[in-house]
Amino acid sequence: MRDRNFLVENNAKPIWHPMAHPAEMRAQPPRIVMKGEGVHVTDIDGKTVIDAVGGLWNVNLGYSCDPIKQAIADQLSALPYYSGFRGTSSGPSIELAYELTEWFKPEGMVRAFFTSGGSDSVETALRLARQYWKIKGQADRTKFLALKKGYHGTHFGGASVNGNANFRRNYEPMLPGVFHIPAPSTYRNPFNETDPAKLAQLCAAAMEEEIAFQGGDTIAAFIMEPVLGAGGVIVPPDSFMTLVREICDRHGILMIADEVVTGFGRTGAWSGSRLWGVKPDMMTMAKAITSGYFPLGATLIGEQVAEAFEADATTFGSIGHGYTYSGHPVGCAAGIAALAETRRLKLDENAAARGKDLAQALAALKAKHLLVGDVRGKGLMAALELVADRDSKKPADKKTMAKVADSAYEAGVMLRVSGNNLILSPPLILTSLDVKAIAEGIDAGLSAAG
Ligand code: PLP
Repeated sequence: MRDRNFLVENNAKPIWHPMAHPAEMRAQPPRIVMKGEGVHVTDIDGKTVIDAVGGLWNVNLGYSCDPIKQAIADQLSALPYYSGFRGTSSGPSIELAYELTEWFKPEGMVRAFFTSGGSDSVETALRLARQYWKIKGQADRTKFLALKKGYHGTHFGGASVNGNANFRRNYEPMLPGVFHIPAPSTYRNPFNETDPAKLAQLCAAAMEEEIAFQGGDTIAAFIMEPVLGAGGVIVPPDSFMTLVREICDRHGILMIADEVVTGFGRTGAWSGSRLWGVKPDMMTMAKAITSGYFPLGATLIGEQVAEAFEADATTFGSIGHGYTYSGHPVGCAAGIAALAETRRLKLDENAAARGKDLAQALAALKAKHLLVGDVRGKGLMAALELVADRDSKKPADKKTMAKVADSAYEAGVMLRVSGNNLILSPPLILTSLDVKAIAEGIDAGLSAAG
């Protein structure tokens, strides 16, 4: 690699960064991360901080997981690539599909379709949902329902079911036939309802109303994140996902759980669907499937959908969809190793235990800093929503958010800003001491901005 001066000189110049304005990035170049070890990363100036973001919700095993590195190296020398398109397969893809369908048997998953990441997995689920209804002879079922504030990646399908205007507006018109219902957020909802059980009922009623308006027999699928991540870590009331499942069943609508963030232990359970005791019809996975060591995703398929495809004697059952890297042998080898380590270290249990420590620490920060309007989280995914004023809930401005994040970085903690939320999704190998360090860094950030 070229030297430090070259990298600093060219930072944000020949490259456009996702989710950023190119001119802003040039004016305020991003941090260049050079090394990772355990739960820490080191930047180009040699500053080491604890990574409270976990890469991008994905590096669940931290940066020093030798079994994954070894599996990647071994697979690279045995077979760096072969296609999974009709006619050929590779060993790691067969093995990982077996592992995933075994692991997510309690959720009713029986088949895996590999992709290159989360957006691909969402696109796959949406397309398979449409195809399922064509196989079933109900070609009118083309529409999708989703939650406002939901995030489902950036392909046209995923961005269409996305419930945040920022990700849609510049790319409209989106996919037709997508409708959104209010997110069950106790902090901000159109009903001003703070009681979780009542809020779940109100959002479920809004969903019923939309279905009645659209005609239930025109809707292919409903998609939701079991805990909404990028929208600001919105934890639905305990009853919400069950209510959604009941409504979907009543109207024959498929339910897709977008588990790209919540899969593999982050919420304290092996999946968000398991956390809420729900069996979806499809689950989208990515991120922690390789702990971020290799780009890979999977769409898992439940029995009802699988049966329809496999029993179909017409051309409808053939899957006219897939990616060059579907079932990439190196990605799948990384996945097999990552999942073995994830299970061996019981990261679900650690996420639940350290999540409790983190929730306590964040509650103390809310009590201390008026800037914190709300604290939310489940397991090791959490958010602090910052406000200019607690009564009006006016969101904190961009400058304040940047000040908090920069000061926290100076104090040794990498945070992620999403709108007026500080997002936390640290590696799941976190210790109690790491939780303390994260809380101290945020405290320093909030004190500097407050
Ligand atoms: N779905 C959810 C719930 C996500 O959080 C994300 C990414 O953050 C995606 C889909 C898209 O994944 P990717 O960025 O790997 O395409």
